[in-house]
Parts: sequence; structure tokens; C-alpha cells
Amino acid sequence: MSSSPGTAWIDGRVVPLSEARVPVTDRGFQFADSVFETIRTYGQRPFLVGEHLDRLRRSAQALMLPVPWSDGDLQDATGQLLAGWSRGQEAALRIVITRGDGGHGLALPEPQCPRLVILCRPLPPLARELYTQGVKVVLPSAARFKEHGVPAHVKSGSYLANVLALAEARRAGGFEALLRAADGSLSEASTSNLFLVSNGRLFTPGLEDDILPGITRAVVIGLASAAGIPVEEGPVSDEHLLAADEVFMTSSVKEVLPVVEVGEQVIGSGVPGAMTRQLMDLFRGKTSELSARGVRRLDEVFRR
Ligand code: PLP
Repeated sequence: MSSSPGTAWIDGRVVPLSEARVPVTDRGFQFADSVFETIRTYGQRPFLVGEHLDRLRRSAQALMLPVPWSDGDLQDATGQLLAGWSRGQEAALRIVITRGDGGHGLALPEPQCPRLVILCRPLPPLARELYTQGVKVVLPSAARFKEHGVPAHVKSGSYLANVLALAEARRAGGFEALLRAADGSLSEASTSNLFLVSNGRLFTPGLEDDILPGITRAVVIGLASAAGIPVEEGPVSDEHLLAADEVFMTSSVKEVLPVVEVGEQVIGSGVPGAMTRQLMDLFRGKTSELSARGVRRLDEVFRR
């Protein structure tokens, strides 16, 4: 299956991705009325699946979207998708729950009949040079703030602000786009959390600073604290970031990815720094250990 573009679980069946369909009347299509999670595998096992399912439920609750599937149901479905997945090939699972079909207008349908779709696609590793050389990120243009309406901690289908910020960043030769919180401080990147190192301390925007509470972010904070690195969570200004010794981003797909340029400004000495490399190594070690142990939630590993 490694050469396959993937499969989907939809209406209780596993089908090739190219054959998966939802009706055009689905509110996910009409209004981005949906929530989702991207979960990656290590050793073909979904990583920290309990954390992702908890976040999916919190997102759904924020949108008054019922989730009639138990964690067991969702894991059975992902298990069906991963069965037969070839050894050595990792997958990205995208669990999408939409508010299903309903109504001609915005009013919530009564009753609500949510729809579950799970996509399972091969996840090739990112190019090695991105980790050895680091990447460039782009500061947001003054006009592009996060969309209003859906709070940043909710992983809803409404990702257009992030899509456009990334498009703008790619045009400017960047790999990722930074986003701003409502107060104008830097919050995160289009699909990653943001960290900087300054004078031996690790800084990252806090949970109140309009971020998605990233699961990789939480692992990195736990690993840094356990390694005796002081971690401070709170608003990050442009000046603080540009003057940092090191910068990196985190996400399930990117893991810990060094940033060596912000806009036209080189960060530190222009190569991935020592603390970033230490955290990259610690993170990689932890992913193998946690997946081998079948750990589902972070409170099994770190006190939070
Ligand atoms: N921030 C945003 C906006 C994201 O979309 C993502 C992941 O897709 C992240 C941060 C990183 O979250 P995680 O580490 O849980 O993948």
C-alpha cells in the first residue's frame, strides 16, 4: 500500500481516497462547519492518540457539535485504515467531523446528524536538509490577523486565514507563515507552534495568546523542563523573536524544525542552534519510546 495515495473511512467503510465522497449539502463543505485532527503514526501506531481525541472533543464542544462516536469507535476506524499499511511507511490520519447535512441557512439543523470521515495518507519524512539547515519563516503582513469567530484553540475546518498566510509566506520564499494574536503579539505559525531560545531560556506563546495547544508543543515543554531548561510561556513580540539566539517550530508532522531566518533577518548564527538540536534529539527519542510503550496521553509521561 506504500505507493497508494491513501484510503478513507467514510460511512462505515474503507474506500480508496479517490472514491471517498461527501454530499455538497454537507455543512463542512458549505460553511467549514467542522472540526478535525491530524494524527501521525510512529511504527504504524497513531502517536498520543488520546491527546488528539481529547482535543477533537474540546473543539467539537466549542462549536456545539455532537460527537456520537466513542474513542473506541474512532480507534477501531483508524485501526481498519492502518491494517495492511506496509511496514516502514508512516501515515497521517486526518479525522474530520462535520455537522453533516442540514438546512438551507445557517441555523443549526435539528436534529444534528454529524458526519465522520477519516483520511489516511502516506507520510513521507520531510527533507533532511530542512532539519540540518533550518528554514525561513515570514512575519505576517499587518493586515492578516487570524479570522475572528473561531477561537485559535479550536481546530475547526475554518483554516482560510492560515491558508492565505502560508500562501503569502511561500511567495516570499518562506517555508512557514507566522500569525498574530489579537493583541498583535506573535502567536504561532500556520500549522505549527513557535518557540525561541534567548539566554539559555525557552520561550513560547502561552495558551492565552491565541494558539492551538499543540501536542508536540506540550511534549517539547515537558522534555525541556525535565532536562532542566527554564521554560516561559507568554506573549512573544517581533523584537523578542528577531533578537533570539535560536528559533524553532513544532507540529505533529514537522516535529521540531529549526528556523534560521525570520523575514530577511538571520537568527543567531544562521544555523540550527545547540538547544534546538538537543530538543530535536530528545523529541525523536521520546517518539520511539512512547509509541513502543503504546502511550496515549501525556499525563502518563509528564506531570502537567
Ligand atoms: N498550530 C496550528 C494552527 C496547527 O494547525 C497545528 C497542527 O496542525 C499546530 C499548531 C501544531 O499542533 P500539533 O503539535 O498538535 O500537531
